[in-house]
Amino acid sequence: MRESLYPMVPVQEALSIILHHAQPLPVIDLSLEKALGMVLAEDVRSSRALPPFDAAVVDGFALRVQDGYRSRRLIGEQMAGRVTDLVVEPDTAVRITTGAPLPAGADAVVKVEEADELQGLVTPFKREQLAPGLGIRRMGSDVQADALLLPAGTVLDPTRLGVVASVGQCIVSVCRRPVVGVFSTGDELENPGQPLGPGQVWDSNRTTLLAMVRQAGGDPLDLGIIRDRPGDLENALANGLELADLLVTSGGVSMGELDLLKPLLQQWGEVHFGRVLMKPGKPLTFATVAPPGKSPGAIERPVFALPGNPVSASVTFQLFVGPAIRRMMGHASAGAGLPLVSAVLGHPFTLDPERPEYHRVILQRHGNRFVARSTGSQASSRLLSITGAHGLLLLEQADGTLPAGTERPVLVFDDIWLRTEVSGNNHD
Ligand code: AMP
Ligand code: MG
Repeated sequence: MRESLYPMVPVQEALSIILHHAQPLPVIDLSLEKALGMVLAEDVRSSRALPPFDAAVVDGFALRVQDGYRSRRLIGEQMAGRVTDLVVEPDTAVRITTGAPLPAGADAVVKVEEADELQGLVTPFKREQLAPGLGIRRMGSDVQADALLLPAGTVLDPTRLGVVASVGQCIVSVCRRPVVGVFSTGDELENPGQPLGPGQVWDSNRTTLLAMVRQAGGDPLDLGIIRDRPGDLENALANGLELADLLVTSGGVSMGELDLLKPLLQQWGEVHFGRVLMKPGKPLTFATVAPPGKSPGAIERPVFALPGNPVSASVTFQLFVGPAIRRMMGHASAGAGLPLVSAVLGHPFTLDPERPEYHRVILQRHGNRFVARSTGSQASSRLLSITGAHGLLLLEQADGTLPAGTERPVLVFDDIWLRTEVSGNNHD
């Protein structure tokens, strides 16, 4: 029996090796409309106080508190964005709208509902407590000048992009997105849309992996199907290393006669591990390789050679490639991995004595608890076992069966709190 040369490394060790080699990419300037999901490379500070002036918070009348509840003469109006040089003298008032600067001389704004307006005279109702500052948002009360608003490392979501805009900035410094080249290997593969010849299957991995690259924040680059021939693989690898910051291949890393990728990666660069102690995904291979013909010291590209089985390819992408992409975009190592929640088993799960298992599960929320149920047959060719799954249940390598009700961690693919179904009591 042939034995792999590569020791099986534990998942956590594999992940730390990957995060060590996937370093943040150079910083670029991006306009705000392109920066959703990017990671700030520099602090964002306020260039000035906000609001930049004392402003009305209601539609009403700017007036002087010391004139009390007497009627005063309306001498004009100050609308938001249209600044006048009106001055509120004793026994006068100025009509004002929300967001407009407070005119000189005024020290309060009475709501339009809290005053009587008749024939050019304004009289505040007595039920309104007049005090300096009433109805006014002071300059700097939202944001002080030169305050640190978003530290470097912040992920830009819609409201954070708004914060950047609110201080007048239209460009941010962020780590750029990695270009991620994806190719499939295998003599048996055919493109969807083409008829199948004898012994062929349609290439599904490339479609899934390119979409996963986009979902993780990378810039996907389709490098097609590569045949299991040494020259073809070498050309594809050289081309990919030239064009992409990171390469993802699938197939050709098991123990078959035509599994040529590992020796090639070993020859051109360094294979950091060639097997991982996990099910599915054991043949996962991670290497760093410099683009050929580049001077020594040229930046080495991380290369992930994923197993060809569609489920193994998807699971290993989620566990290992996604974190590498996020790390290259500048996410802190700790934030690059999948989020972890705790769940109770909805039925018994049989353990594998040989390897820890990443079992695809559906989660259902019962109050504050998640209940995990298998997606069914976990055959690594059965893409439906991961389709619709919320995450990967971590089952330890051991003999025996875990009974229903046991608590175990689940790595979740996305915003589980928003998406999982909430069950009624009768489904417990
Ligand atoms: P390999 O890792 O090359 O030994 O392939 C393992 C299994 O996955 C084989 O049944 C392949 O036909 C299948 N496979 C490999 N690549 C793909 C792909 N891109 N799309 C769908 N199935 C694939
Ligand atoms: Mg193959």
